[in-house]
Amino acid sequence: MIEREVVETNPNVKFEDIAELDSAKKALQEAVLLPLLLPDFFTGLRRPWKGVLLYGPPGTGKTLLAKALATQGKTTFFNVSATTFASKWRGESEKLVRILFEMARFYGPSTIFIDEVDSIGTKRHDGDNEASRRVMAELLIQMDGISSAQANKDNNTSSTTTSSDKSDTQSKPKNVMVLAATNHPWDLDDALRRRFEKRVYVPLPNKEGRLQMFKINLKGVSVSKDVNFDELVKLTEGYSGADIANVCRDAAMMQMRRKLEKANGAFDLMSLVNNKEFQQELDAPVTQKDIKDAIKNTSRSVGKDDLKRYVDWTKEFSSV
Ligand code: ADP
Repeated sequence: MIEREVVETNPNVKFEDIAELDSAKKALQEAVLLPLLLPDFFTGLRRPWKGVLLYGPPGTGKTLLAKALATQGKTTFFNVSATTFASKWRGESEKLVRILFEMARFYGPSTIFIDEVDSIGTKRHDGDNEASRRVMAELLIQMDGISSAQANKDNNTSSTTTSSDKSDTQSKPKNVMVLAATNHPWDLDDALRRRFEKRVYVPLPNKEGRLQMFKINLKGVSVSKDVNFDELVKLTEGYSGADIANVCRDAAMMQMRRKLEKANGAFDLMSLVNNKEFQQELDAPVTQKDIKDAIKNTSRSVGKDDLKRYVDWTKEFSSV
């Protein structure tokens, strides 16, 4: 099940496809990629973080960042969320966690990405059931296991610094990095939060980020000369990356909708879609009005109160 549903062999996301977020990209490359690629350097005081947490409003690129890391580092990518562990069989869920980590070690170097980690390890225990508590307990054990494997390796290498024993490379633990994402960092259980020693804030895009996002999203379609990106950027203050992707998708459909409306009644749909002229007209460039209409149709998905919570949590717990 894990191999089928969880392992993504080639997530194929490049860092260039992700707008802005420069400090998060740098922090992640240092905290996740380099320790996997240079395991001998990241020992002792430089030992890798137990886990790295990406937090911020929904739709800001946390999953994209994790995928870009896995792509760039050519690591095996295990993409899991709370639902992966929601097994209906008693005792199966924590077994899945254990097997997940075993497989990650086997296929290492690996990145385990846990989306919506707050729903696995939540602070609110009132409605919590026994099974999900056991999943979290297993997760804590496995995360500690990775770092103690790392610590053992440190001890071994320090006691054999003068030895040139080549067989050591064979017994090296393959590295596994645990990366998680949450839109509700404040709900995270304290014990779990502590395991994520590195915490990286992925905020809403600023003006420059939104501009890049419009350009990334509209790359595949023709864009009319009248499109004024400055105006669009101003109109989308407070929009997330996912909101802007939706705006662009909606705008790219506008021409088709208009043409269909105009042609309505004139043809039946089948002959219309087979009509060459109609097909050419459909691909007309996206205009400023299309995008502005799409902005009107798409409201921002993150409220001001939520943003304040992220800022407050960052002050208290961030590590970048
Ligand atoms: P989340 O932070 O919720 O994990 P995702 O990484 O899944 O968000 O992003 C959802 C969608 O929003 C992406 O598929 C992409 O289209 C768009 N998006 C979000 N952030 C960015 C970004 N920084 N650059 C480019 N596209 C983005």
